[in-house]
Amino acid sequence: MKKPFVTNAQLQAIVRDYPTPFHLYDEKGIRQTARALKAAFSWNPGYREYFAVKATPTPAILKILQEEGCGVDCSSLTELMLSEKCGFRGHDIMFSSNETPAEEYALAHKLGAVINLDDFTHIDFLKGTVGEIPETISCRFNPGGVFHLGESHEGFQVMDTPEDSKYGFTREQLFEGFRKLKAMGAKRFGLHAFLASNTLSNDYYPALAGILFRLAVELQQETGCKIAFINLSGGVGIPYRPEETANDIAVIGEGVRRAFEEILVPAGMGDVAIYTELGRYMLGPHGCLVTKVLHFKHTYREYVGVDACAVDLIRPAMYGAYHHITVSGKEHAPCDHIYDVVGGLCENNDKFAIQRPLPEIKLGDLLVIHDTGAHGHSMGYNYNGKLRSAELLLQENGSVKLIRRAETPEDYFATMIFEE
Ligand SMILES: *Cc1c(COP(=O)(O)O)cnc(C)c1O
Repeated sequence: MKKPFVTNAQLQAIVRDYPTPFHLYDEKGIRQTARALKAAFSWNPGYREYFAVKATPTPAILKILQEEGCGVDCSSLTELMLSEKCGFRGHDIMFSSNETPAEEYALAHKLGAVINLDDFTHIDFLKGTVGEIPETISCRFNPGGVFHLGESHEGFQVMDTPEDSKYGFTREQLFEGFRKLKAMGAKRFGLHAFLASNTLSNDYYPALAGILFRLAVELQQETGCKIAFINLSGGVGIPYRPEETANDIAVIGEGVRRAFEEILVPAGMGDVAIYTELGRYMLGPHGCLVTKVLHFKHTYREYVGVDACAVDLIRPAMYGAYHHITVSGKEHAPCDHIYDVVGGLCENNDKFAIQRPLPEIKLGDLLVIHDTGAHGHSMGYNYNGKLRSAELLLQENGSVKLIRRAETPEDYFATMIFEE
């Protein structure tokens, strides 16, 4: 059974101060996950997690992760600016983007971020943009073909199979690229790949590590480039459905360690640092979307209309993603009613749940939509003139803090130009 991290009594108190809908985050859970991840890779002295900012670009959240020792992985100009504002400096920042505008490379370079190139042609583009190749540089690898691990359908909707995905260098381009970068002044090299998203398998990272470690040995031996770090990127998933089993990060860390001992250590590369860029795994389970039941509609189905909609959480509309729903205060009631839980957008895919067994719902009930801590609020938008919700933090001491205010109509109108 999936249990919300917030009780009905807590929620009833919170909604007296903050109107629904809102995203709520659990500080205690975030810190526990960050510590468990760090412990799982503590065998590697250079290990570091660079949190994927795009998952939850909220200063208070980044601050917590910074206190836990994480860096940040940025993919755009504003994410770089946000990270700088939050006090991340130099190599605390990884910059992994694609189709990158010149101004983004310029800022990443100015901040001293580690730049992770997505394509061979970006070597000259970077040099032309910032005037030099930084001493530390990373390249993203795409092995092509098909990468299979279990049946993570959604993973392939987000990422596609490697052969069909737009990211990364081919193997041949990597060898040529490393030689070229070395000739242009690079001294410390990184290797990165992201092959599948939301994997529910303790084998994904070890399998990816095996691929990257073998390639790193060949690259270092053939090109003489010093491989300083290997970045396993994101992709470790979370159990969105109650019947799914969570990944065990300790087992994952141990699997990567075994590949490291087997492949890198015998090649004399035991000093390579392992990096990760997890987003979903770090934050997903530690956020929820809280929404109030506004209407019932009895037509061909039983509809429950809520005050949140797809602008607050687009994953169900975009990927058909499952998000568990708990009716707050009815955690132990039998799920003997079948509902479609819907938002108010003029889009028929604006449904948080379709034909979902739930306890009997009453007007005014609070619904907790689970696992919205990553790729939830951050994927929000303003379609239908809907305004993005607030974000709240349930702190370790049990009190609640506003960490992002809800948008107001003034925000909505701020970019509009009205003719006189
Ligand atoms: C999105 C992204 C991540 C994080 O992915 P998750 O599946 O949330 O772990 C990491 N690295 C890069 C380059 C990304 O684009």
